[in-house]
Amino acid sequence: MAYELIWFKRDLRWHDHAPLARASRLGPVRCIYVVEPGLWRQPDAALQHFEFVRESLLALDAELRRHGGGVEVHHGEMPEVLERLWQEAPFARLHAHEETGNGWTYQRDLRVHAWCRAHGVTWHEYPQFGVVRRLSNRQLWQGAYEAHMALPQETPGRLHVWRATPGTGSIKAVPEGALRVADLRAPAHLRHNPPRRQTGGREAALATLRSFLHGRSLGYRGGMSSPLTAPDACSRLSPHLAWGCISMREVVQQTREHLATLPEQATRHRASLLAFLSRLYWHCHFIQKLESEPAIEWRNMHRGYDGLRETEFHADRLQTLIQARTGWPMVDACVTMLRETGWLNFRMRAMLVSVAAYPLWLHWRPVGEWLATQFLDYEPGIHWSQLQMQSGTTGINATRVYNPIKQAQDHDPHGRFVRTWLPAMRRVPDEWLFEPWLMPQALQASLGLQVGSDIPWPVVDLKEATRVAKQRLYERRRHDEVRAGQQAVIERHASRKNWRMDGEIPSKPRRSVRHRSDQARHTQTDPSAQLGFDF
Ligand SMILES: Cc1cc2nc3c(=O)[nH]c(=O)nc-3n(C[C@H](O)[C@H](O)[C@H](O)COP(=O)(O)OP(=O)(O)OC[C@H]3O[C@@H](n4cnc5c(N)ncnc54)[C@H](O)[C@@H]3O)c2cc1C
Repeated sequence: MAYELIWFKRDLRWHDHAPLARASRLGPVRCIYVVEPGLWRQPDAALQHFEFVRESLLALDAELRRHGGGVEVHHGEMPEVLERLWQEAPFARLHAHEETGNGWTYQRDLRVHAWCRAHGVTWHEYPQFGVVRRLSNRQLWQGAYEAHMALPQETPGRLHVWRATPGTGSIKAVPEGALRVADLRAPAHLRHNPPRRQTGGREAALATLRSFLHGRSLGYRGGMSSPLTAPDACSRLSPHLAWGCISMREVVQQTREHLATLPEQATRHRASLLAFLSRLYWHCHFIQKLESEPAIEWRNMHRGYDGLRETEFHADRLQTLIQARTGWPMVDACVTMLRETGWLNFRMRAMLVSVAAYPLWLHWRPVGEWLATQFLDYEPGIHWSQLQMQSGTTGINATRVYNPIKQAQDHDPHGRFVRTWLPAMRRVPDEWLFEPWLMPQALQASLGLQVGSDIPWPVVDLKEATRVAKQRLYERRRHDEVRAGQQAVIERHASRKNWRMDGEIPSKPRRSVRHRSDQARHTQTDPSAQLGFDF
């Protein structure tokens, strides 16, 4: 009997999964995940991504089994795997979520479409975010986002499975060795699995959402900027959203419902949740940019900036950054934390890219490849747009140049963060925290430290290198063709909403979102609110 084939990709959940819910109404289902060596060989792929996927698949399989199903894991390239399955037993239709991935997944999807056409198979693709495929007019986008978030969540009941497939039916038997570390192209030192990273699966995602909504979110607005407070104050949902352990719609709806239960006078908490909702909106807004213009993964969003940095790449400077040896303690501490945990807050990510783009004058693409392997939550649409935005090549955003010394003074004034991640800094007295390379020789000797070995010299003169970088950028910006090209980028990509899109807090929380039970006078507590992130 023909069956419905469901292909899981970056949507590793059972709940609110339209392809599964709709397919299960059409006939018996067969669920697959395909480990595609070509995908994992891309420069933006990392071992930590695969391990997170593996954990999420195990959780998904357990959930599907409770509902009578299971997930098969296959190894090979698409569409060859489809051909194998088809030879074994033809399927009626293929169901999957739309994916706004990298250039490789785009090309692979074209091949899958061609295979489906050749075999007379209909491929049903369902949106999983507020991202619109073939968007004709950017003006219509916000309405489409709201419509998607307002739809009911789609979850199947008991599954009618096609047939149990011995051997491939047991997920535990397959993933072992399904990805060989040698499949990864990233250099060996980037292939690590951060020891303190978040783990995958729906339960972990739900616990994270609950602890945020019912407790941690109170400190969101005030705590998101400092790397000391951000690990606990931010939602930490990003890897779960990136790999689809929880749907964006479920997060948006739960947040709106929780907001509606908060009393009017809970102004701080309400402002935080509104700021959080705006980030969820940005998530889709940014992915839409890559969906509408896939080339921004490789080339400048504004072509007037072509050639600005590409021709003079300083590979040694990138290595210094990767090895956390720039000499600026805040930068080196962030790189170390990222290596250990797979996560960093927005402001510190922006600072790393800004340092790479301005004083180090590095083109954003190699920097972005490295960071993609370091971020557990790597999401191509957000990632490449942000890389370009923080490097000044979009042509439509204000230039933000983050000074790493000022960031340390503002967000780690007592050195707790840098001393956590850089042991050598524990011996540096407070007055030299921000510029330890200026410590007199005699002091270094008395502390048993040496600048140049224990603490690196700054890789370049920060002030002078930043001045030159800004000057070069502004000169380019003054060119007539750069000015002329700006409008086209605005038409295609700019937000029509009055929120700043650079990650900073809007000056006043918007109060326009009102809910049925705004007057409710109770707050909820939840044991999972105790869940904390302690770095
Ligand atoms: C250079 C750079 C690269 C980035 N790369 C990624 C990436 O690959 N994947 C990714 O999810 N985020 C990326 N971000 C955005 C942001 O830093 C992370 O989403 C955030 O730090 C994740 O932590 P959180 O889930 O606790 O965020 P919260 O502040 O709790 O936000 C909730 C969710 O909103 C979305 N979000 C938050 N901030 C932004 C933003 N500025 N733009 C778009 N969406 C946002 C994310 O899905 C996030 O999980 C990047 C930022 C920069 C500056």
